[in-house]
Amino acid sequence: MARVVVTGGAGFVGSHVCDRLLSRGDEVVCVDNFSTGMRKNTAAHDTNPSYELIESDVSRELPVSGSVDAVMHLASPASPPDYLRMPLESLDVGSLGTRLALDLALAHGARFVLASTSEVYGDPLVHPQRESYWGNVNPVGPRAVYDEAKRFAETLTMTYHRLHGLSAGIARIFNTYGPRLRPGDGRVVSNFLVQAMENRPLTVYGDGSQTRSFCFVDDEARGLVSLLDSDLVGPVNIGNPDEFTVLELAKIIVELTGAESEIVFEDLPVDDPTRRCPDIARARELLGWEPRVNLREGLALTHTWYLEERARGGA
Ligand code: NAD
Ligand code: UDP
Repeated sequence: MARVVVTGGAGFVGSHVCDRLLSRGDEVVCVDNFSTGMRKNTAAHDTNPSYELIESDVSRELPVSGSVDAVMHLASPASPPDYLRMPLESLDVGSLGTRLALDLALAHGARFVLASTSEVYGDPLVHPQRESYWGNVNPVGPRAVYDEAKRFAETLTMTYHRLHGLSAGIARIFNTYGPRLRPGDGRVVSNFLVQAMENRPLTVYGDGSQTRSFCFVDDEARGLVSLLDSDLVGPVNIGNPDEFTVLELAKIIVELTGAESEIVFEDLPVDDPTRRCPDIARARELLGWEPRVNLREGLALTHTWYLEERARGGA
């Protein structure tokens, strides 16, 4: 049993990580400022004595008292519309927030896990992406507020490891979807599902030939906890290597929901990566982890949750 601090624990991925840790008997301290997270995501744990919720902007303060065995730093806007709306906050939480999270881990001799992203590979020239690839990021484009913040966070993390011997793993998370992905979050799976459920046109950006590899959130959370439990230092891809074009995704969601929606094409955002797929050999070998839920199964589970959420008045 351990006491784990999860920054961003009220968010989409973070709340699933909190669930998983609590269900196996760990204590969880969730620190969140609710900028994109929701109280209801962890409300089920409010009366659990093993769960503590602290409202704080971790770029300014990480006021955790008591023992700390591990720190998982997930706080950060993650959806492109969110980080483009909060550019300075995104840079701050990747830099100042990561520094405070690392200091907390260091002060307690705790294990540290950084939630990084496939965006560190930018618009990749190597395919699929393995951890040894340094990436192709435009440092002055609009997406850089997220990409470069995460790249800096990775650098900071490895510097704490080299300087202080901190045990630090870096999860390069690839596109994750599932229950609790906010319906209005702006990412592709939530947009398409909500549009299909309302029989509205699905908005494919560009010609839809760009690819993504979608990981179901249960698999993702299990991978992050495996990384936490290991002593792996440095980056590891945690994603599902099944690759789809965005147009394929749109067609699957129309079929799955039985929608009468048409597909419309809109402008491609600036610097939108043309393809993305993780090489997960390292996660398989060093963590014994691989995804178990395929896209159609995961989308069906997500669709069911969206229907239930709608019935609860939440979507
Ligand atoms: P999310 O927006 O649902 O969750 C982020 C959480 O962080 C929210 O609860 C938000 O309120 C909190 N937060 C943001 N800034 C904060 C701050 N300064 N102080 C305290 N809390 C703050 O996003 P998510 O999809 O759950 O992403 C979680 C992490 O995983 C992020 O670090 C993200 O970069 C990373 N990631 C996610 C994906 C994905 O596909 N979901 C892909 C790559 C990386
Ligand atoms: N996308 C789309 N329609 C939407 C939202 C997104 O075609 O309504 C595309 C987006 O341009 C990108 C892909 O879907 O190519 C994944 O976008 P998302 O915002 O989910 O995540 P990203 O991988 O860009 O961080």
